[in-house]
Amino acid sequence: MVSAAVALLLLAGVVAVRHPVAAGASGQSLVVARVETTKRVVALTFDDGPHPLWTPVVQERLAAEHVPATFFLIGHDVVRRPDLMRNELANGSEVGDHTFRHPILTRLRADKVRAELVAGREAITDNGGPRPTLFRPPYGKTNEAIDAAARAEGMRTILWDLSLEHFVDHVAVAKGVAKLVDQVRPGSIILAHDGGKSDRSRTLQALPLLIAQLKARGYRFVTVTQLLSDGTAEANRT
Ligand SMILES: [Zn+2]
Repeated sequence: MVSAAVALLLLAGVVAVRHPVAAGASGQSLVVARVETTKRVVALTFDDGPHPLWTPVVQERLAAEHVPATFFLIGHDVVRRPDLMRNELANGSEVGDHTFRHPILTRLRADKVRAELVAGREAITDNGGPRPTLFRPPYGKTNEAIDAAARAEGMRTILWDLSLEHFVDHVAVAKGVAKLVDQVRPGSIILAHDGGKSDRSRTLQALPLLIAQLKARGYRFVTVTQLLSDGTAEANRT
């Protein structure tokens, strides 16, 4: 059954698949987990970087395939390795705010939530990045107040409909990638990680397979910002 909030999002050309939040006072939530489009476009997103070990390898693989991605950065790590963020931007990717210290926002007071969003954004802008318009809450944990706080700072909340690590961390990588590819739809937003405390070598191993198989199925990789504009364009035509 489709909830009222999801139905409204469908009208806007945007689908909240995974974590639909209640519609706000305006009657419309802006939380996005996938974009409704008939174009074979897909967005790769990477969370928790920049990381000195994983991020350069992800960069290298994306650049070799001319694939842009959207990186949701932890401010604390941007301050320590701004060069890695600048490389992402130089390679045609975009960056979004993933807070400064990666807390569970739903456990914080409103003023602390705002402070995390702003400090995450400033880590990006103070180090030569553009002011972010996209926000991803750590662990995908959000609610109406957090979404509103992000919107007040000029950022749209972006979740995901498919997680790469969910598919490849517990089975053979090639098998997991094949299953994931079967579930990708036009407008999908794929979550992956290039940072955090976990070993990301399976993600790195999966990445070239994922890119090759989606390209073979006619998919084009775009940033989340491009995906949002494609989705809206499709919705306007119907
Ligand atoms: Zn994260």
